[in-house]
Amino acid sequence: MRADSLLFHDDFRIAPYWWDEAPPETSRVALPANVDVVIVGSGYCGLSAAAEAAQHGAAVAVLDAAELGAGGSTRSGGMVSSGQKLALTNAIRGVSAERLGRLMAESNASFDYLKQLINTESLDAGLQITGRFFGAFTPGHFERLRKQGELLRDKTGVTVHVVTRAEQRAVVGSDYYYGGILVDEYGGLHTAKYHRALRELARRRGATLHSHAAVERIERTGSRFIVHTARGKINASRVLVATNGYTGRLTPFFARRVLPVASYQIATEPLPPGLMDVLNPGRRMISDSKRNLFYTRPSPDGTRMLFGSRPSFREVGEREAARILRAKMIELWPALRDVRITHAWKGYVAMTGDKLAHIGERDGVHYALGCNGNGVALMSYLGQRIAKSLLGLEAAPGAFGEGPFPLSPAGIASTLSVPVGAALYQLDDCWNGRVRGALS
Ligand SMILES: Cc1cc2nc3c(=O)[nH]c(=O)nc-3n(C[C@H](O)[C@H](O)[C@H](O)COP(=O)(O)OP(=O)(O)OC[C@H]3O[C@@H](n4cnc5c(N)ncnc54)[C@H](O)[C@@H]3O)c2cc1C
Repeated sequence: MRADSLLFHDDFRIAPYWWDEAPPETSRVALPANVDVVIVGSGYCGLSAAAEAAQHGAAVAVLDAAELGAGGSTRSGGMVSSGQKLALTNAIRGVSAERLGRLMAESNASFDYLKQLINTESLDAGLQITGRFFGAFTPGHFERLRKQGELLRDKTGVTVHVVTRAEQRAVVGSDYYYGGILVDEYGGLHTAKYHRALRELARRRGATLHSHAAVERIERTGSRFIVHTARGKINASRVLVATNGYTGRLTPFFARRVLPVASYQIATEPLPPGLMDVLNPGRRMISDSKRNLFYTRPSPDGTRMLFGSRPSFREVGEREAARILRAKMIELWPALRDVRITHAWKGYVAMTGDKLAHIGERDGVHYALGCNGNGVALMSYLGQRIAKSLLGLEAAPGAFGEGPFPLSPAGIASTLSVPVGAALYQLDDCWNGRVRGALS
């Protein structure tokens, strides 16, 4: 086993790499007594809802239990795409062709919304459209990806290249995968800079943002609400719950429908000159066909490798996770064996029973939740959509607002335990690992 000094850089820290440039914010400004809209959660969803509602003249307060932006939004891989989560997973099983068409159309709309918002508001988000490669973990997965790529191309109009194993070194600099598909129109952004830009936008439009204001109770009084927080009460006409992977006891109905699952990432020190050109010449986003997938990308400045996965069935400390993730990264790229780790962190994604995000209203409380790990564009978009809906500006909530919000493994996990849920979720990978073992 290698000494820690060879694995971890002297400046190693347990914090997202993204926070070096744009840390989350403490904002202890006094809570207003009365507003039109209280938003619980200051991630992309809450902030884009705030920016939208404020633009229509509503008085809006965004409350977060922690610092502004300390949730999933600034902890993510920052990969942006449209519809891939629907086409490349079994989320669409049992969904009618007609609804699938509308879900795909909305996923497309979410990506367009993100790009348009960044362009029209000149948001400093570091968006780069470099493409994304989806690697096949087994030969069977390659055939599946090829078909799913066709669906993705037909339903969303993206350019999909099938990359054989013989060709893949030009894309991913590795023999780890059995080929895959490459989508040109996808890319990545700087998660925390985008968050900071959204905070500025929401404030410019008049919303107030409050950190360390955990909402403890939402009390309904006739047609209005009293929102009880760790820093006092606010009266509001409308309440939006935008807590995604951090959904908890405040809203038991949603907590039974959203399973928070920890995902971990590491960042390396700057790579030796020329190495990124070998490992990821196109500076693309890369993920794969496993359930407990690898997702990896260069830092926006192209100097470091960021790498994410779940280290094990159970939750572990970030330092232990970093060792395990580093070993996985070296399986993909043995050339990174002498590169040290500078950052390790985790964040919670929100898995739902039907693998779809849901927006709507329950007992007068609006919600947008459950992006299943694919929320940079989608939760930004659903935030502005639900804002329009709660202001009465949009009659129908759209395809993500249809159908029941089913109980998820969260319901089961609350009686068993999250590790059991996560273990069941990953059984597929164990089997496929044996298939690969037999092939090699
Ligand atoms: C490690 C990781 C990697 C990911 N990678 C990608 C990716 O590459 N591409 C992609 O598209 N998506 C990715 N995602 C998903 C995506 O980033 C997030 O799911 C999305 O940003 C969620 O945004 P949100 O606003 O809904 O929630 P969040 O940003 O998670 O915000 C929810 C907030 O609610 C607050 N909160 C909870 N309870 C209360 C309360 N009672 N009172 C007040 N505040 C409360 C929390 O403190 C938190 O700040 C990833 C997520 C993670 C965690």
